[in-house]
Amino acid sequence: APDGGFLIYLQHFSAELTEFFMIAVSLAIAAVPEGLPAVVTITLALGMREMIKRHALIRRLAAVETLGSARVICSDKTGTLTQNQMTVVKLWVDNHGFGVTGEGYTPKGEFTLNGQTVDMKLHPGAMAALRAVVLCSDAYLEVSDGSDYRVIGDPTEGALVVAAAKAGAHRASLEKVYPRVCEVPFDSERKCMSTVQNILDKENEFGLPGNFSGSSGSLYVATCKGAPDVIMQICTHYQGIDGDPVPLTDEMRSKIISANESMAREALRVLAVSYRVDPAAPEEATAKSIEQNLVFLGLFGIIDPARPEVIPAVTKARQAGIRTIMITGDYPDTAAAIGQSIGLIEPGHRVMSGAELDKLDSQSLVGILQDTDVFARVNPEHKMRIVDGLKQTGEVVAMTGDGVNDAPALKRSDIGIAMGITGTDVAKETADMVLTDDNYVSIVDAVEQGRIIYSNIRKFVFFLLSSNVAEILIIFIPTLFALPSPLTAIQLLWLNMVTDGAPALALAKEKGDPDVMMRPPRPKSEPIIHGPMRLGIFVQAIAQTVVTLGAFYLGLVWTLQANNSLPADVNPLLFVLGHDCTGINVQTAETMAFVTLSLCELFRAFTVRSERLSIFQIGPFSNIYLVWAVALSTVLLVMTVLVPFFNPIFNTSPLSLTEWQIVLGLALMPAVVEEITKWYLRIKG
Ligand code: ADP
Ligand code: MG
Repeated sequence: APDGGFLIYLQHFSAELTEFFMIAVSLAIAAVPEGLPAVVTITLALGMREMIKRHALIRRLAAVETLGSARVICSDKTGTLTQNQMTVVKLWVDNHGFGVTGEGYTPKGEFTLNGQTVDMKLHPGAMAALRAVVLCSDAYLEVSDGSDYRVIGDPTEGALVVAAAKAGAHRASLEKVYPRVCEVPFDSERKCMSTVQNILDKENEFGLPGNFSGSSGSLYVATCKGAPDVIMQICTHYQGIDGDPVPLTDEMRSKIISANESMAREALRVLAVSYRVDPAAPEEATAKSIEQNLVFLGLFGIIDPARPEVIPAVTKARQAGIRTIMITGDYPDTAAAIGQSIGLIEPGHRVMSGAELDKLDSQSLVGILQDTDVFARVNPEHKMRIVDGLKQTGEVVAMTGDGVNDAPALKRSDIGIAMGITGTDVAKETADMVLTDDNYVSIVDAVEQGRIIYSNIRKFVFFLLSSNVAEILIIFIPTLFALPSPLTAIQLLWLNMVTDGAPALALAKEKGDPDVMMRPPRPKSEPIIHGPMRLGIFVQAIAQTVVTLGAFYLGLVWTLQANNSLPADVNPLLFVLGHDCTGINVQTAETMAFVTLSLCELFRAFTVRSERLSIFQIGPFSNIYLVWAVALSTVLLVMTVLVPFFNPIFNTSPLSLTEWQIVLGLALMPAVVEEITKWYLRIKG
């Protein structure tokens, strides 16, 4: 009857439709690496935790990836490359060069002149310099247990306060006589700082600044300290060693400048201090109103030793193809001396000052950047130009900063790094990464960690994607021959998420190849799936497809033989390919395919641990997490086959011993193929 025929037709049609639908679903599941997003996120989060242990706090997840490709580190000198443990070792007043002994912030030490200990009371000019510098500072000393001193405030100022204390000039008693009325704080643009004090007791014992006991009415003293070249420009007089102001001659100016230069060449950070007595306090506290007509008092030479651990770190960075550029507000000679001592300046490379940089247009700056390792006497605007210049040449730039003014440069760089201890909140908020110990070494460690994390991500992307490509082929090829699908949708999901998931996560715990920091940074334009990985995916997809379909085929043939449905005189392969196999029980074949592909993945998890090195070079079991992950996945896999409860869910049936052996042998092959691929990539270079 036509009706019955139509119904049968409909039934047939819908059955076909369901099958198509199931194949489409399977293909979709096969094509999508379901576990990947979770594994990537967890890996980055684990990486951030690892970096915190190395004193680098990542504020933006993506910075982990960028760090790994860094090519230039622009690092502040003071506090990042040096210890920020400042100590005044020299004081220069009116042609007298004093030495200062003592260590750290303990205010115990002596002043020497020509090798002899001197009593500073005999040198009022020098005492005036020491007092002025305390009044013009905000840092103070704090003592605990009677002997443990520390500085609260700027370490540079701390050093000055400690030096003054060694000569008996203490902030507490000075401030009683000279209370501060206003101030213009230090900024790295002006490179100086000023304060104004009321002079309460004109007959005071301090004698700063000179003799004015006869005058009536109120008196104020302005004090200004800062970079010597800046201070020299606003001074008209200088104070003699005996305490009298004298007009500054050109001869004296050049003496002061050469004293500054000789201190700078000894890697000392130099500050000058000056003052002026006024009958009235300035109406508004501006740099303009205070910083003029000053009397030069003296120069302070401050030692700030390089961090010893920085020397090997600079070399390590260089071996990893990463340049380090030092940026500082200090005098060029100081910067050059420190740069030399830590091996940062390469032979033939130069030191450039902010003033020289100002004369360059951006085009010539780009050329100069190639062989300039140190930028001295710069301000935050220069940092911007340096970042821009480097980025024009295609570099990936990490830039450090601490001040409010550094924020734009931090933002502009690829990786903005703020100082956790000395940094301002503004700098920290704009940064991608915060160093909790302010140490350059932590930047290099973070780059290393970034490289490791990126290569780990690449490892499991490779791991997961190659099995996805294989799955597509495994589903697709049998449909061409009207064979039943070797893998069900549930099996595919299980494979992608459970079997692959645990080992992929364990790959995130890889320690990295031993030579991560001996190789150049990855090219900026290199995609995550680069050439060698594409080759690897191709080879793996083929290998896994061959062994999985091989297992499926063997399973089919054995089932047919057991049913006596395989004619003895035909080639079994041609028979299987040429006949409609619907109706035969394919459970054994499907189970064998599923177990083979799963085991392939578990074996291969060991070989993808390094992209280049062989498994024996890195030690097969050196990642204990992976051993556990693979053990766990194996147990779960075996359960889906052996536990009867799971058989209907996963469409599996128990395998015989021979079947297990065949499946194991086949599953080992892609791992072997992978080792051969890596060997080929190694000899190819
Ligand atoms: P750096 O980049 O090395 O930290 P800065 O910009 O802080 O350099 O300092 C630049 C120069 O300004 C120093 O060489 C010093 O002469 C002077 N200076 C530094 N700190 C202070 C301060 N607190 N008060 C006055 N002058 C300072
Ligand atoms: Mg500074």
